[in-house]
Order: sequence, then structure tokens, then C-alpha cells
Amino acid sequence: MDSKKTALVTGSSSGIGFGIAKVLLEKGYQVILHGIETQSQIDTEIKDLEKFGSIIGYYQVDMGNAKAIEQFCTELKDSKINVDILVNNAGIQHVSPIQDFSPEKWDQIIAINLSSAFHLTRHLLPHMQKQKWGKIINIASAHGLVASANKSAYVASKHALVGLTKVVALENAKIGITCNAVCPGWVLTPLVESQIQKKSIEQKISIEQATENLLMEKQPSNQFVTPENVGQFVLFLCSSAANQINGAALSIDGGWVAQ
Ligand code: NAD
Repeated sequence: MDSKKTALVTGSSSGIGFGIAKVLLEKGYQVILHGIETQSQIDTEIKDLEKFGSIIGYYQVDMGNAKAIEQFCTELKDSKINVDILVNNAGIQHVSPIQDFSPEKWDQIIAINLSSAFHLTRHLLPHMQKQKWGKIINIASAHGLVASANKSAYVASKHALVGLTKVVALENAKIGITCNAVCPGWVLTPLVESQIQKKSIEQKISIEQATENLLMEKQPSNQFVTPENVGQFVLFLCSSAANQINGAALSIDGGWVAQ
């Protein structure tokens, strides 16, 4: 591990991204934090992470806005901040049958979950190519490999993210850069908590029952994957031991897609 490496973790103000940032900081990586919230809204999270290591800064950027992403990358470049490790993690969910699915939500999910990874990769890759070292890790999902009803935009965005991962891997395979997709099953974060809450209201059952049902339906381990589990997996992908893992969609899902 090179402790001087700098990682950008999108969506690190919460959930899985927070877990990834924490593990990388603990291991001596410098981390650029990012989220959609204002800095004051996530003051506590930033203070929590500061305990673990060297934070370069927190950036509030809307990953649904290509222009804002470009400006953000220019700002990093102007500040002489080079990104060696890009973790495309920011993402959102919306659950609805396709005939009722709002086209605005569709566009927003595709922009945040998929197109932001394209834009950031496009802008940040030249530095990695120049130094002949880089790691790009796209946080896809079990839904990048299999589908569930009522998640058309999410499933489409995550399947496409797995495809994008393979192309970036192939284009850079000979020059010391890897690009892989991580495909988690259920992780208990605000993104999943809101789905549990919705199920509990719709089905008139307790939160505990809705949580148990959610796990039993998809995840054979009947346990949540933790943000720490995903963080440790990302850490491994950043290590030299993973140099020949490239273009892969790697499950961390308690057995979800083995079924
Ligand atoms: P979360 O809701 O806890 O965090 C989402 C993060 O994305 C936050 O940091 C938020 O600031 C950021 N974000 C949201 N909208 C944004 C926008 N418009 N612009 C920029 N940033 C924005 O969610 P999470 O569960 O930690 O999800 C993180 C990633 O992991 C997502 O890509 C999600 O699809 C994926 N994932 C989650 C699970 C799960 O079970 N939680 C499973 C598989 C994959």
C-alpha cells in the first residue's frame, strides 16, 4: 500500500461511502469526501472521519449535473489535487411499477447512478494514465447482475454501470489501471431504511418484521452486509494483490445472486 495515494469517494457523507472512506483513512490513504449535503449538514460525519486520518476536503457536488461535475474536477486540478483512486459510490433509489415511474426520477437515477461515473472517469483518468497507476471502483449492486420488480431505473443504471466498468478496464488494461464493480446485497443505510419504512407502512407490519422479510426474500445469509465489509473489499481492490482483478463484477451479498 502506498500511503500517499489520494482517493475520491463520492457519496461518502453517508452509508456505504462513509464506510469506505473510514477504512481507507484508517489505512493511511488521503481521502476527498463528497456528498449532496452542505458541509454544515454533515459536520458530525466529517468530525467522525477526521479521527481516522487525513481528509483533503469535503465537496458538495450534484452528481446529477454534468456541468457541476466538470467544475468540480477543474477545481481539484486547479488546487493540484490528483485523484489516484476513484470510488464511484453516490447513488439513489426509487421504487415504483414502470407504468407509474416518473420520467424525471428515471433521468435523475440514470444521471446520478450511471452518468456521474462516466463523467468522473473521463475527467480523472488522464492523471492515472500519465502516472500509469490507478484504481477505479464502481459501487454497483446485486441489482447490477439480477433484477427485482419495481426498480426499473435502478436496475438499468446498475447493469449499465457493470458494462461501463468492463469497457474502462479493457481500455486501460495494459497501463497499470484497473476498473472493477462491487456488487453489494442489502446494506442497512438510509437508502434501504426508507424502503423498509415504505414496506412497513404498505403492509401494516412492524419495522422489525419488514426488515426480516426484506432479508429473507433476497439475502440467504439473513444478515446485512456492513459498510465496513464493503470498505475492506475496496481496500483490497486498491492493493497490489488485486492488480490482476480487472473488469470484474464482484459480489458481496450474502449469497443473493447465487440463487
Ligand atoms: P445513502 O443514501 O446512505 O448514501 C447516498 C450517498 O449519495 C450520500 O452520500 C449522498 O450525499 C449521495 N448522493 C445522493 N444524491 C446525490 C446527488 N444528487 N449528487 C451527489 N451525491 C448524492 O446510500 P447507500 O446505501 O450508502 O448507497 C451508496 C451506493 O451503494 C449507491 O450507489 C447504492 O446504489 C449502492 N448500493 C447500496 C446498497 C444498500 O443496500 N444500501 C446495496 C447495493 C448497492
